Amino acid sequence: MSTETTLILFKPDAVSQGLVGTVLARYEKAGFKIRGMKLMELSDELLAEHYSHIADKPFFPSVRGFMQETPVVALALQGENVITRVRDLLGPTDSKEAAAGTIRGDFGDKGEDAKMRNICHASDSPEAAADELKRFFNEGEII
Ligand code: ADP
Repeated sequence: MSTETTLILFKPDAVSQGLVGTVLARYEKAGFKIRGMKLMELSDELLAEHYSHIADKPFFPSVRGFMQETPVVALALQGENVITRVRDLLGPTDSKEAAAGTIRGDFGDKGEDAKMRNICHASDSPEAAADELKRFFNEGEII
């Protein structure tokens, strides 16, 4: 067991449907603690960095447009093994493949955008979490 902090983004589909509180309650019920939280508008530059691993995919412009539909809520969340446990709470990228009871299974798009409109981003490794927390939070914003 190790205490970790992960970077979560509530994507525009969560924000526009008023699902931030509902999903945040799941993280808090799981015992995780809020260490930083803010509303942000994501620039092209920040999205190119954050999604550099998919920047050459044909669907990247759609993802960029989606992530700029509304501001997103960035959350620094701390807890025991929070990185893998939050990924388990979320379910797989494709909301149609996500089981009922997972966040993406319960709230993600079940139509043609099921692979994109999937409610939250969460860091997928300790290395990614460290990079992403630095990218989205300034010094002093994680308490
Ligand atoms: P995850 O967010 O589950 O770690 P990835 O890092 O592979 O998934 O992809 C980043 C984001 O890009 C996904 O969460 C999703 O919003 C979008 N995405 C991934 N694959 C596709 C796809 N085939 N079509 C449309 N959007 C996608």
